[in-house]
Amino acid sequence: MNSFVFKTDKIKSERGFKCSLKPSPEKFRDLFSISELLSLSVSASFSVSDRCILVEGEVKAAIRAECSRCLKKFQTELFDRFEEVYEEPCDEIDIEPVLRETLAMMEPQKPVCPVECDETFLKKYAPSHDGESGPFSALKKVDFGKKEK
Ligand SMILES: [Zn+2]
Repeated sequence: MNSFVFKTDKIKSERGFKCSLKPSPEKFRDLFSISELLSLSVSASFSVSDRCILVEGEVKAAIRAECSRCLKKFQTELFDRFEEVYEEPCDEIDIEPVLRETLAMMEPQKPVCPVECDETFLKKYAPSHDGESGPFSALKKVDFGKKEK
């Protein structure tokens, strides 16, 4: 039995419960097209009402991505929640489909490294004339990394 399947009887008899899962990232790697899934943790909370079972989940994923600005590799953590209602559930509830759906939406399509982004590429492709009216001119006025004195 895989670890994403839960017995409806057990959920009902305990009037809901919480659990934490540490799925192997290999199983979900196919959902990440431009970054690499390194690790994954999922917590799920089941609650029971008349005929439904509600599952609320939290997903944390660590990925290795390539910065879309400076092409540097970096690691970062992603976080998301999901909620699914199972109406008149049969013997078992399988949360893998909703988990896959959630993960598929989590991958950043234009990842940018969180610190020390090298702007060489930005400068290279920005207009060479002064740059005041270039598409990135607004970025030059933004204070990215200056420490307060
Ligand atoms: Zn970068």
